[in-house]
Amino acid sequence: MPKNGEGEIIEWLGGQKGAMLALLEDIVNIDGGSYDKAGVDAVATRIRKFLEENEIACETIANESFGDALRATVGGPSNSAIMLLGHRDTVFPKGEPTRRPFKIENGKAYGPGVADMKAGLVMNAFVLAAFRKFGGAPAPLVGLFTSDEEIGSPACRPIIEAEARRARAVFNSEPGRPSGNVVTGRKGGVFMKMEVVGKAAHSGGNYSEGISAIEELARKTIALHAITDLTKGTTVNVGLISGGQTVNTVAPWAKCEIDLRYVTPPDREDAMAKIVRIVETANVPGTRATLEIAGEFKPLVEGPENRRLFDHYAACASDLSLKVEGEFTGGCADSGFTSGVGTPTVCAVGPVGGKAHTPEEFLMVDTLVPRAQTLALAVARLT
Ligand SMILES: [Zn+2]
Repeated sequence: MPKNGEGEIIEWLGGQKGAMLALLEDIVNIDGGSYDKAGVDAVATRIRKFLEENEIACETIANESFGDALRATVGGPSNSAIMLLGHRDTVFPKGEPTRRPFKIENGKAYGPGVADMKAGLVMNAFVLAAFRKFGGAPAPLVGLFTSDEEIGSPACRPIIEAEARRARAVFNSEPGRPSGNVVTGRKGGVFMKMEVVGKAAHSGGNYSEGISAIEELARKTIALHAITDLTKGTTVNVGLISGGQTVNTVAPWAKCEIDLRYVTPPDREDAMAKIVRIVETANVPGTRATLEIAGEFKPLVEGPENRRLFDHYAACASDLSLKVEGEFTGGCADSGFTSGVGTPTVCAVGPVGGKAHTPEEFLMVDTLVPRAQTLALAVARLT
């Protein structure tokens, strides 16, 4: 059972389901693709309105190309902060909320980003509001509402890392697994672009003068996929290819996008060395290739510090009669950055959902309140 003083927060959150759903409906129905700055910023404006109505101090950290970051603080004893993290962007194209607005059916809520991770943002906002109202936080709370996680956080990564360095713990409110579990380990990911240059020639009249960039790309693709080592958890996927000029021209160029996933930092170094060697080795004489890292996520490594924070979270869940375990997933998230700077992190503490990044994405509505209560308890009892 919750200890004295926590009771008010738990009870208040217990009565907020309707208000949480109202805020969730509002922000699901706003466009928020990662490249839609106006949309992602409009989501921030709505969240900021809620926070300011609850007398929470807010600050906008502006960005010219991507959405701004929104930072909210609730005071506490002036030692290192507890960070509640979440991203406002979704993977969906413009107009998706109009085509597929928020709805609830049979206990599940639907709509673009409903679980990944607008429900987590709502939860963080309400937990901040609860501590603002009743006090009891053992440290200042920082809520960071970021704008660009789905594309690797090009704008917000430095903000997340700087904030995490100042924090004693990070709770990232990505959606809880369908089992109700949270995430204690995530792979790292490197997203790359490779371009191959060859030489054009008429494929009928002048074949031997041509240098086929497509043939080279094909050979490199096979070599890249061969780096995959499922027992180690390292995978390489060439997910996009394009190239060539016309069917009757030896291809002067070809390019692809490569996704590397790995479990530990040394696995990244191994795989990157192999990838660079493949890029630099011409199988078709005369071709040249270049590689560029377009985005990157660090892994959430299952170390003892993260384990301790997870154990603390799970004990708080247990006091609220919820059973929560930690899971490993290949998907990347901003929790890799916070853990990467050495701050204990637990991920996927958000309300439970599934089928993220698809039109079938859903949120289990009845998990909004208990997950908020668990987070609040984990914050209140953090020593
Ligand atoms: Zn997410």
